[in-house]
Amino acid sequence: MASRSDSTFSPASRTMLERLVAFPTVSRDGNLELIDYVRSYLQGFGIASELTFDDERRKANLFATIGPEDRGGICLSGHTDVVPVDGQDWSVPPFAVTEREGRLHGRGACDMKGFLAAVLGLVPEFLEQNLRIPIHLALSYDEEVGCLGVRRLLARLAEREVKPAACIVGEPTGMTPVTGHKGKLSMRCHVHGLECHSAIAPTGVNAVEYAAELIVRLRRMAAARRTGGPFDLAYDPPYTTIHTGVVQGGTALNIVPRDCRFDFEFRYLPADDPGRLLAEVTDFAARELLPQMRAVSPDAGFRFEEIAAFPGLAMTDDDPVTRQVMELTGAERTGRVSFGTEAGLFQAAGIPTIVCGPGQIAQAHKPDEFIEIDQLARCEGFLRRLADRIAG
Ligand SMILES: [Zn+2]
Repeated sequence: MASRSDSTFSPASRTMLERLVAFPTVSRDGNLELIDYVRSYLQGFGIASELTFDDERRKANLFATIGPEDRGGICLSGHTDVVPVDGQDWSVPPFAVTEREGRLHGRGACDMKGFLAAVLGLVPEFLEQNLRIPIHLALSYDEEVGCLGVRRLLARLAEREVKPAACIVGEPTGMTPVTGHKGKLSMRCHVHGLECHSAIAPTGVNAVEYAAELIVRLRRMAAARRTGGPFDLAYDPPYTTIHTGVVQGGTALNIVPRDCRFDFEFRYLPADDPGRLLAEVTDFAARELLPQMRAVSPDAGFRFEEIAAFPGLAMTDDDPVTRQVMELTGAERTGRVSFGTEAGLFQAAGIPTIVCGPGQIAQAHKPDEFIEIDQLARCEGFLRRLADRIAG
């Protein structure tokens, strides 16, 4: 089946990686130059791209189809944005590719321009194949800040008569097919109390203290899941985790604080229901805390605001796309990961999706981020076998 060895990474893909890394597509700064570059690259092969923009038109997703347009096909998907390098101690220029001992260093080399470079570098080879079913390319923006961009791309796909029959998201998994990841719900809670001189504290409503009660409640919920489950041993940690990460409140010790806000998150197993988890918190606030607060001040209360959310991914091992990716990678097992990806959103949009890409997540988001050339070569081998399989 494998007509070529997996041991080399083609010069075309290598050049493509150098081009992609050179665009400093930090999420906050936009990605249009990179998208323009990819669009004209594809145009050079006669492949049209459809772009979907953010509200300010500073960022875009790109969707393109190679092969017949009238049937499902397989989508190869990745995000174009990268995390910042601010405050990180890099020993190589972050927005260039530097080779050292079989590794290519650069921001995004691993997460996840390496995968995109392999896909784009192989476009001429895909075109030489007489593809029976199409290969779609989906490049997104703002993945690193809550999987925001891809939602617009998926909304556009939903309007089409034909959408991809399956999708592979090339986030770094060491080329292991990953069938599941946790979902995430991030929330901000605003606590509104009543300020007064701290010498007469009982006549006020202490927003910091009511926030603390709610934070302790979240901590108890986390402990209950740690000891009582539900569990899925394929994950590490094998249960839903809950944590509070930021608290802000109060102005001076001699003032009973009027306002406090805190941010918390649920990273839940696909089997868990984020709505029910959140209801546990809001019900406790409404039932146990609010009456005490309102007894002092009718204006006191809580406001909950969603910061970010993406669904988990839960594919089965006997799904056709899982089996196909296992065969083409030669993997004997599938894996689950604790980091989030766009794959859950693809699955929620009715497109069966697997996460499988070169590199390891441990190398992402760090100074001197790198990808092993060997991983890129394995990824190319996988993509060539995929194209061989779906060729006429
Ligand atoms: Zn990523």
